[in-house]
Amino acid sequence: PSPRSSVIIIGAGVSGLSAAKVLAENGIGDLLILEASDRIGGRIRKEKFGDVSVELGAGWIAGVGGKESNPVWEIAAKLGLRTCFSDYSNARYNIYDRSGKIFPSGIAADSYKKAVDSAIQKLKGLESNCVEDATNRTDFTLTPKTPIELAIDFILHDFEMAEVEPISTYVDFGEREFLVADERGYEYLLYKMAEEFLFTSEGKILDNRLKLNKVVRELQHSRNGVTVRTEDGCVYEADYVILSASIGVLQSDLISFRPPLPRWKTEAIEKCDVMVYTKIFLKFPYKFWPCGPGKEFFIYAHERRGYYTFWQHMENAYPGSNILVVTLTNDESKRVESQSDEETLKEAMVVLRDMFGSDIPDATDILVPRWWNNRFQRCSYSNYPMISNNQVINDIKAPVGRIFFTGEHTSERFNGYVHGGHLAGIDTSKAVLEEMRKDERQNDKQNQNL
Ligand code: FAD
Repeated sequence: PSPRSSVIIIGAGVSGLSAAKVLAENGIGDLLILEASDRIGGRIRKEKFGDVSVELGAGWIAGVGGKESNPVWEIAAKLGLRTCFSDYSNARYNIYDRSGKIFPSGIAADSYKKAVDSAIQKLKGLESNCVEDATNRTDFTLTPKTPIELAIDFILHDFEMAEVEPISTYVDFGEREFLVADERGYEYLLYKMAEEFLFTSEGKILDNRLKLNKVVRELQHSRNGVTVRTEDGCVYEADYVILSASIGVLQSDLISFRPPLPRWKTEAIEKCDVMVYTKIFLKFPYKFWPCGPGKEFFIYAHERRGYYTFWQHMENAYPGSNILVVTLTNDESKRVESQSDEETLKEAMVVLRDMFGSDIPDATDILVPRWWNNRFQRCSYSNYPMISNNQVINDIKAPVGRIFFTGEHTSERFNGYVHGGHLAGIDTSKAVLEEMRKDERQNDKQNQNL
């Protein structure tokens, strides 16, 4: 076995790296980071598509311009990461029906207001504990039925929850969102973070405290420490473990615990919904979509909820790139992940021809990320039920013996976001440092008594 480490951090996404950095800054030199994949970044990931870098995972720095400053925005600003302001709000005025007509703005605005009102009404029902009242309503005005209502319902619930309920990201950090449009990718931020405490050379991390392709399969824990076993048969020992695997991974059987996790823990893990969010990128020989002000986002209204509903052109981020992005979620994401990219391309082209006419060119390339089928992710992000009791997130976050949990899903205020992962990592490492100090005090006492 390798020498014992003070702390093993499982996962090198934003939360794991943030945690490791705080530990290193507090003098914990003998830490070890075990990452299952062959890269750092986790759900922050760029890929070359056409001539540009596109973000398969997190794309926006959300929550900017408010009363508190978003730490991720501060880091990005310091690094000079190139970003573009995004205004989703006018998407509602670019809603196409299946014959390619844009719904008049009055109708769109009315439908939008109705949907927001009914969502707020439903939420109030849930808040006042009239869950039955809210879900068993016979008031059909609350149930979206027409394609435009379904499209707006999708946007409100799968994208713009902030219009319905207060979300700390927007209330505290601000309502503005910036798309990362930098060739170095959102992940550059993580590389620079790693550079501050790991040995790097010419853009590569060469420090042997970061081990890639190490899939943790078992955590055996006791009062004295934790033994970590990886898929390739390696064994690592540590005083403490910080586990940053996603909520989707925790719900899967990738990692087993000996002794098993207590029931309060497994029950809490099961209670958190996972959101699958898929950005499909399509490259065209030329652009055929409108590009003026207020046209960046557009919506396709279909009788199936979430069917290729939410579109974005990349001309603001990368002029001349001729790329469109369509976002699917949950069941539609899973459906598309399980079919071939050619089939997805065909479906998307039918939708685009509905909106823009039959003479538009075929896409020349398609990129379909598969977050759900990635066994190191099994989701895009956590999605706590609208009215979820704080106990659930506290239990998900709570340590079990010497195993500490971190990741965006453990952030009470900012779950689901990059800054949530970042702040969670900092919080968890501080909790571990506190435990280590307690251990030290206890050891000192024992030594004095001897
Ligand atoms: P991760 O990044 O998942 O890191 C965990 C790491 O653990 C991974 O690298 C994984 O490989 C590793 N791991 C898992 N299991 C094991 C194992 N058994 N052994 C070893 N290693 C393991 N956030 C925003 O703020 N703005 C956005 O616009 C935004 N859009 C998003 C769009 C998509 C498509 C997705 C997927 C996410 C988006 N998010 C967005 C959310 C954001 O990306 C995440 O909240 C954040 O990156 C999560 O960081 P993390 O450290 O908690 O988890």
